[in-house]
Amino acid sequence: MIIVMKPQAVREEIGAVVKYIEDHGLSVHLSQGEEVTIIGIIGDKSKISSENLTVYKGVDRIVPVTESYKLSNRKFHPEPTTVSVGNTSIGPGILTIMAGPCAVETEEQLMEIAIQVKKSGATILRGGAYKPRTSPYSFQGLEEEGLRFMQNAKKETGLSTICEVVSREAIEAAVKYVDMIQIGARNMQNFILLKEAGRSGLPVLLKRGLCATIDEWLNAAEYIIAEGNPHVVLCERGIRTYETATRNTLDLSAVPVMREKTHLPVIVDPSHSTGSYKYVPAMAKAAVACDADGLMIEVHNDPAHALSDGPQSLTFEKFAKLTGELKPFCDVIGRSFNPADSH
Ligand code: PEP
Ligand code: MN
Repeated sequence: MIIVMKPQAVREEIGAVVKYIEDHGLSVHLSQGEEVTIIGIIGDKSKISSENLTVYKGVDRIVPVTESYKLSNRKFHPEPTTVSVGNTSIGPGILTIMAGPCAVETEEQLMEIAIQVKKSGATILRGGAYKPRTSPYSFQGLEEEGLRFMQNAKKETGLSTICEVVSREAIEAAVKYVDMIQIGARNMQNFILLKEAGRSGLPVLLKRGLCATIDEWLNAAEYIIAEGNPHVVLCERGIRTYETATRNTLDLSAVPVMREKTHLPVIVDPSHSTGSYKYVPAMAKAAVACDADGLMIEVHNDPAHALSDGPQSLTFEKFAKLTGELKPFCDVIGRSFNPADSH
């Protein structure tokens, strides 16, 4: 349930409502917008009477929230959230591009990719150091050594960094080296990992699970925020359908649906969703056109010899061409992005 206060409600009136709720053992989430204050109630609502609340001064109306996710719910927090990541951010008004290899392979490889993606307008370097591979015999990642290479690439280029984590140990290592952690599709409902990510305090990129509904995805985000970490960004990366021509099916409708349901930023990964470098540019442009807050794109210095996801990785040239082509889409949708002048 949320309580929408009148625009003219004063601090004491808001405080009185909050006290009533807290006195009944429930907790409160305050969203102070430019016009009105919204008081979200978290906990067992049967302990309080909404009728009693309507008589409090300054209360405009009481709206039930039927969804099980509250803190990620746009009803609780109508203003869109901007998430800071190192020296950049993800949210309204800007298009944030994360780019880099699927896996960190060597220090030289990562450094070269970092320099090139920065030139083309990326502000966040991605690179997997812990790889959740389908086969246990595939390359599993360099682990902490890979994180150190990420940190060095950040020092050299000024790019912010993101790395996927798959365990509590990986989170403990990641907090020392990178600016943002990623929970991958295969771990979206690993609730223990979600709670650990929440406790880490680092911004979290939460990818949509391969078979997850929007509701399940938002509940997964709720697990992170409920631990006191509100810095969550959602990433649509394709879902599994009967179609086999692409690796997954990119559900771009998730972007406007999420926009309605949550205040959290939403980005799109056209690489894992299509599985082929050929389809990445079209879907990246479509994602910007439908108002995604950012993109995550795999880029490799030598896709033919990549240790993972080579077929979907863009070369430097293809990535540079794509980011140049994104500019008009940003203009139409009203987002700033200038590849030649990135932070
Ligand atoms: C990745 O980003 O490298 C990755 C493994 O993505 P996903 O979890 O979307 O498959
Ligand atoms: Mn990959």
